[in-house]
Amino acid sequence: MSIEIKIYNKIKLMRLGVVITMYIVMLGAPGTGKGTIGKILSQDLDLTHISTGDIFRDQISRETELGKKIKSYMESGALVPDDVVIETVKTRLLEKDVENGAILDGFPRTAMQAEALKNFLKENKPNAKRVAIELDVPDDEIIRRVVNRLICSNKSCGAIYNKETKPPKKEGICDICGGELKKRDDDNRETVTKRLAIYRQNSKDLVDFYRKNNALYTIYPKDVDVAVKDIKKFLEEYKKGISQG
Ligand code: ADP
Ligand code: ZN
Repeated sequence: MSIEIKIYNKIKLMRLGVVITMYIVMLGAPGTGKGTIGKILSQDLDLTHISTGDIFRDQISRETELGKKIKSYMESGALVPDDVVIETVKTRLLEKDVENGAILDGFPRTAMQAEALKNFLKENKPNAKRVAIELDVPDDEIIRRVVNRLICSNKSCGAIYNKETKPPKKEGICDICGGELKKRDDDNRETVTKRLAIYRQNSKDLVDFYRKNNALYTIYPKDVDVAVKDIKKFLEEYKKGISQG
């Protein structure tokens, strides 16, 4: 986004007397494109991208106390316990780069986490608005996407590829940064089936939670660019709605 547009957006919101910050929650089963779409949105909207999965994988690879605690949950495809996740996210949300809002990718994942986020924002960020984007993809396509997924191991890049639908130009090498492409430990058929079942179990409550607030947008993201464009249009309308009362 150009600096002019950024300033224009800020002034527009400041005319309303308050600077509204957006916390955009990406809801969707594994492999629906939360990460891919979330990263693009974070760049286009100049919002910090926070992925609980990435935070946890980083903790595991650095063998921290937290990493040791959560390793077995992640490897088996189970959810990390709510209290651990909530504490981790709260700490992250208080960091300086989150002042202007964030894209939350993979959090909340349970009704309890959604409630915790709501209360945290109410207490700590009075001008924050929460809005959820639900990415809806059929199960058979999800499994196909996840078992073929490859991720750039260079942490500052993290580009996502797919052996079938989006292969890199050179096998095993990231097109963007030349980093080595790897498969995630939990991206196998057995684990993804479990992650998917857990998602389906929790998603109804989560979706209802945001629907009640009139802050839910559901799309079937066939094409990443089209999905990003649609979501941005929805967010513009949503912001307009806020500013008109
Ligand atoms: P995916 O959406 O493909 O499952 P993520 O990177 O978002 O991938 O999450 C990977 C794993 O990290 C999950 O299977 C779970 O073990 C753990 N995790 C991430 N976010 C949460 C969360 N909000 N609550 C509980 N566990 C989580
Ligand atoms: Zn890369």
